Amino acid sequence: MPLRERYSRGLHEIADGVWAWLQPDGSWGLSNAGLVVDGEASMLVDTLFDVPLTQAMLDAMRRATRAADALDVVVNTHANGDHCWGNQLCEGSRIVASRRAAQEMLRLDPKLVAKLAKVSQLGVRTGALGRRLGALLSRVGVRKLGAVLEGSDLLARAFGRFDFGSVRLTPPTETFDEHLQLRVGDTAVDLHEVGPAHTTSDVIVHVDSRGVVFTGDILFVDAHPIVWEGPVSNWIAACDRILEANATVIVPGHGPLAEASDVRRTQTYLRYLYDEAKARHAAGMSATEAARDISLQDFRDWREAERVVVNVRSIYRELSGGGPAGDEVVELFALMAAHAREHAG
Ligand SMILES: [Zn+2]
Repeated sequence: MPLRERYSRGLHEIADGVWAWLQPDGSWGLSNAGLVVDGEASMLVDTLFDVPLTQAMLDAMRRATRAADALDVVVNTHANGDHCWGNQLCEGSRIVASRRAAQEMLRLDPKLVAKLAKVSQLGVRTGALGRRLGALLSRVGVRKLGAVLEGSDLLARAFGRFDFGSVRLTPPTETFDEHLQLRVGDTAVDLHEVGPAHTTSDVIVHVDSRGVVFTGDILFVDAHPIVWEGPVSNWIAACDRILEANATVIVPGHGPLAEASDVRRTQTYLRYLYDEAKARHAAGMSATEAARDISLQDFRDWREAERVVVNVRSIYRELSGGGPAGDEVVELFALMAAHAREHAG
């Protein structure tokens, strides 16, 4: 069966002693993970967004192989919660991430996201009225609550299905810069830091002897990527690193198992969006207007088109001389929600 069609929730053996855990449809928070085994030794690539989801994954892995009973190493590809908020179930294992990803993990409190998810449910119940109230609150300076209400439909869609109440931030026990080679039994596994791109630091996990690369969120398949950090040029170069790995199986951070053509299409998207945004930046158009103005027809089969709002803002920030991402995440969700509503149906 072609790789892409093996897209059902659960564990898929993709090479000798290598599994991917897939979560269709790969939209907000529904991330993929992986398991590498050699003899009794095992490595988990990423935990999931909450404790019940991660527990279900670990249970399935333990049914598939005894080597997963006690995981030797857990690697977090980056700091987004959907790749590390299940870490607490792996206490006692070595937990490895890049130094900058480990720092970024401390920035967002799961309890805050749990509250956000709750308030957004209220916003959904109040519908358009809640959004108007949100816009008003934003205008009079209660920006955060206003943004939550304005973005409530998207926030509820993105976070409403998860159980953040029991997440306890569990940071890595070991960090590295640029490159680290780990061993799972006799199998070499290379961690390459290719960010900042999607976040402040993104890592790809290459198991050369088994022909597998786990890309983290450098690759979204059938969906718009989201450039929280940039620069876009790093992301394009990161895609080249994935292609150079020449893997038989590419496991994306979200979406079905990928092929080289999916990686190249992501590069095409990033180049296109960068050029289109640059022209509008030069013409004095605002980032919000530019996101509305740029045609996404060539990518109309991709989900989460609202991410173009964040992507154009990141490119604008890059064009005006960089600096770290300053927008509050909830405000970005309010902008994306407005964009999604405009383009619905
Ligand atoms: Zn993700």
